[in-house]
Amino acid sequence: KFNFCAGPAALPEPVLLQAQQELLDWGGRGCSVMEVSHRSPEFTEVAERAEQDFRDLLSIPAHYKVLFVQGGATGQFSAIPWNLFGGGVKRADYIHTGQWAGKAIKEASRYGEVNVVASSEDRNFSYAPAADAWQESDRSAYFHYTPNETIGGVEFNYVPEVKAPLVADMSSNILSKAIPIEKFGMIYAGAQKNIGPSGIAVVIVREDLLDRAMSDIPRSLNWKIAAEAGSMDNTPPTFAWYLSGLVFQWLKAQGGVEAMYEQSLKKSGLLYEFLDRSDFFSSPVDPASRSRMNVPFVLADEQLDARFLNEAEETGLLNLKGHRSVGGMRASLYNAVPLEAVEALVAFMADFEKRVA
Ligand code: PLP
Repeated sequence: KFNFCAGPAALPEPVLLQAQQELLDWGGRGCSVMEVSHRSPEFTEVAERAEQDFRDLLSIPAHYKVLFVQGGATGQFSAIPWNLFGGGVKRADYIHTGQWAGKAIKEASRYGEVNVVASSEDRNFSYAPAADAWQESDRSAYFHYTPNETIGGVEFNYVPEVKAPLVADMSSNILSKAIPIEKFGMIYAGAQKNIGPSGIAVVIVREDLLDRAMSDIPRSLNWKIAAEAGSMDNTPPTFAWYLSGLVFQWLKAQGGVEAMYEQSLKKSGLLYEFLDRSDFFSSPVDPASRSRMNVPFVLADEQLDARFLNEAEETGLLNLKGHRSVGGMRASLYNAVPLEAVEALVAFMADFEKRVA
């Protein structure tokens, strides 16, 4: 069976098999990794290796901290203003591209002034605003955007050039291509798509931004405290950290983010080509902004949606229903989804079209 779930998403099979094997007896210790102290030398080794592998995969320079935190990407919607509005400017620029950017904007607005410099709401969030369609504010604490909108299936094909520290929610496309890290002040991602299981989120933050927190920031959201404590100011989600580490090792063995990028172009390209050829299925997203990770599509007759989903499931193609807020279908093609999954999906869709159209 192939799992196209948008998140929590499919994990690489070899990783799950290794975790299964080690579940009761981790490396001959007679217990699970979940049952040892996070401060033990064994777990410290797991944590440090995961961080190093993650750094290697994305070529993260030494003056950036990598944090493994709780509270998901949503926790960071709050953590970002808390950590950056204490440096004298309580204003930030945001690009509004859909549901996730919208939630980030709403949360930041509780703590300071949010300037929405561009929005794609005029066309139902079906595109990423062009680089020349917006201007950043003269003074802002940071500039936030969402490189990949998971629900709308919209991905930026450029990195904004701004003076303020650039902040990006990469929850649904991190580790799917190389990132010019030095263009960013801070990057964050919930793990449950391209990293590991839910329950952990990754933060990459430039060191000089660690001194801009508001004085009453909640301790658990404070990046500086997390950085000084090696992400262990309190008990971290050790199993999620361990599994994420196994995913990083798997990614390295696959050829790293460059290989994932090539693969993502092949997988999404195959599906978009089919959608563009079809008279029955179509993509609602502007071609220049189509996501490599999340591919929403609609049927010409929405009365057939339920039948399509039922037959897909019977064929072993799982979780193709679009997000409840937008309807239609969505195939998520994260790193753990093999090319064969997309080949099987396209073959099924072609056959469905022939039978019903
Ligand atoms: N941002 C994006 C782009 C997402 O896709 C998601 C979840 O799907 C979130 C934020 C929220 O993540 P979490 O559930 O980890 O808070």
